[in-house]
Amino acid sequence: MRLPPLLAVSSVLLLSIVTVYGEESKSLYAPGDNVLELDIDNFDSMVYGSPRGYFIEFYSSWCGHCIHYKPQWVTFATKLKDWSSVVQVSVINCADEKNSPVCRAHAIDAFPTLKYFPPHSKSKDDGQKYTGDKYELPSMALDVAKFVRADYVAQRPPTWPKVEALPSTIILEQLWSAMSPSQQILVAVIEEDPFLTGFATVIGFGKNPFVEAVVMPSSHPIAQQFSGSVLPTLLIFKRDNPNAPDFVSKSEMSVFQMADKIDEYITAVADTVHQGPPPPAAVIPGAAAEDVVAAPAPTKTLVPLNFEQFKVQQLDLSSALHYMLTQEIPRKPVIDNENLAALKGWIHLLRRYVPGTAPIRRLFYRLDEWTQLQSYSITAESWIAKVAELQTDLGHPLPANASWVACKGSKPYLRGYTCGLWTLMHAVTVQAYADEKDNHGFKPVVEVLEPIHQFIYHYLSCEICAKNFHHMTEANELSLVTRPEDVILWLWRAHNNVNRRLAGDASEDPSYPKRQFPDAALCHDCIVNGVYQEGKVLEFMLRYYTDVRTDGLVPTPGYKVTEFEDGKVQKVAVKHLNPKFAIHANNVDKLEETEARLRQQQVDANPKHHWRSLDSDGYAGAASAQSADRSTFYLIWFVIVGIALAFAYLKYRQNRSKFWKTFYYYNDYKLFPWSSNSPANIRSKYVA
Ligand SMILES: Cc1cc2nc3c(=O)[nH]c(=O)nc-3n(C[C@H](O)[C@H](O)[C@H](O)COP(=O)(O)OP(=O)(O)OC[C@H]3O[C@@H](n4cnc5c(N)ncnc54)[C@H](O)[C@@H]3O)c2cc1C
Repeated sequence: MRLPPLLAVSSVLLLSIVTVYGEESKSLYAPGDNVLELDIDNFDSMVYGSPRGYFIEFYSSWCGHCIHYKPQWVTFATKLKDWSSVVQVSVINCADEKNSPVCRAHAIDAFPTLKYFPPHSKSKDDGQKYTGDKYELPSMALDVAKFVRADYVAQRPPTWPKVEALPSTIILEQLWSAMSPSQQILVAVIEEDPFLTGFATVIGFGKNPFVEAVVMPSSHPIAQQFSGSVLPTLLIFKRDNPNAPDFVSKSEMSVFQMADKIDEYITAVADTVHQGPPPPAAVIPGAAAEDVVAAPAPTKTLVPLNFEQFKVQQLDLSSALHYMLTQEIPRKPVIDNENLAALKGWIHLLRRYVPGTAPIRRLFYRLDEWTQLQSYSITAESWIAKVAELQTDLGHPLPANASWVACKGSKPYLRGYTCGLWTLMHAVTVQAYADEKDNHGFKPVVEVLEPIHQFIYHYLSCEICAKNFHHMTEANELSLVTRPEDVILWLWRAHNNVNRRLAGDASEDPSYPKRQFPDAALCHDCIVNGVYQEGKVLEFMLRYYTDVRTDGLVPTPGYKVTEFEDGKVQKVAVKHLNPKFAIHANNVDKLEETEARLRQQQVDANPKHHWRSLDSDGYAGAASAQSADRSTFYLIWFVIVGIALAFAYLKYRQNRSKFWKTFYYYNDYKLFPWSSNSPANIRSKYVA
């Protein structure tokens, strides 16, 4: 049977990627944020073997929750900036693909994740995940102090301040006399074991030239003399009045409030030491006094609708697929149990409805075939290897890096992947509806919405986003969906709920404010009296999500087309492919099945092929593999015959005289068989 040549596309369309971001940094953090920025180049050398600990936020710059959390982390880092000789507050951006190996090695599959690495850590195994409340900054500081105290007890690092309680025998005079003259302030924190507020204060002010900080229990004689009514109590003594505290806390103070109070004293002392006047307030020449005091609050200007964001771009879809396959899924070092089930459901869904060219669909066909065979678990390494193998076999249908067109944000860390993922999910639901609307056996929840839900819940590394979506499936009664069109409408509504919730949020791109979709400017009929008309929205969604643009995609000249006949490769030709060329999933299934059958027929017809792995013998390499086989076959025979001839020649050289004598003897004997001479006589006649 002759297959149409174009059905057997063997290697296709290399995407040439539009450079979108230039050199702009993808980091959420800036130099003034008091965090140390780690990356793949400096992570190991900074963190391992260091005399200080590291408290690291593994974050993803596109993750809305991380964008939201950033101010908290900056505040925390600023509060702990004086702890840096003991513990350094740091960040690493896992959305930057170059850092992926580090984040994968540390098993980071949800963002943001905080980890503490003790001083002299040796490997990733020394990192301890922080499980406390990361929004309660003072208590998180105490938890870090607890880590530090444990390290102090275990290692006694010589450069650290003494993270220990004051012995009960030490009196106030001894403390003052042990202090250097520049230390004008003595701070004492009175509290009970485990002394965390006190230790945090000691760590924070241990290197300050003006302060000596100590910790003591309430049973200590100094505490007995001056302690306030609440614990922990803060006492601040000044050198000019060494025997009576200048400040005694009367009510509960957090560790940060204590630090602020101590800072007030330090500022006063530093001012006295430097004799410098406080810096004057900045005054703009010619400005009225009230302008300086209170600048008018900026009024929110209406950002005009940017229609470029409302295009479904193949490059956004392909970039989202690339990022999902190579970064998001293999964040889990081992994929098993419900994670494996969720992955199988999602990849199968993509096999059926993924938008894109034939090679993209073939990639998901093959990935699905492989994934469904994995019974117990898949390691991140084997997943990455399988995706890379399929990419190579199919001529790299997905781009090597994520590049965004309609999903491009005004900053490199805004929009991007989640925008591409929403677009992909909507395109999938639209394709599912288009294919299945007349299929009475179609189950919209089981076959489409639940695989989407499970994938988001288990694999969207923006942890809070995933949880919010999960709650939405409960609140919006996913289980009640029955009509095929509801696969589109349920997701549309869910997305609009997210848009509503995030409007004005820190994660919103100011150039692309969140709106309800579709805007009246996109679909005039969809909104009547401010209310969406679902029938019209459905029609709009079908139009919108099937009109896939190819901006930024350029077909490279020359991809291969292989023609088969009777299970044999007839010819391989070079053709061009319009990047818009798409193929229906059913056709891809038939194509892949036919090719698999033909390959099997080839193997059955030619048992010589049995020793070769069918998997590695992809259809694209069939022609070259065949001729390679033939050459190997001839070469082996050539070598065997050559060796036999050489061996015969050597033997001949070695026994030359004997050979000829034997030859003559034998022939003589044969020539004169009737001779009365016995063979022994003949031998004695010829053999010397
Ligand atoms: C499942 C999921 C849950 C998320 N949860 C959170 C969260 O809890 N907190 C957080 O900060 N971020 C969350 N995000 C990210 C957030 O929704 C946006 O993706 C991100 O802020 C980027 O927004 P965007 O402006 O690019 O548009 P997106 O909201 O990403 O939308 C992408 C494109 O889809 C189209 N579109 C918009 N609305 C609809 C709709 N209703 N129906 C069909 N098409 C539409 C538009 O063309 C738009 O440009 C989540 C993302 C996903 C995928």
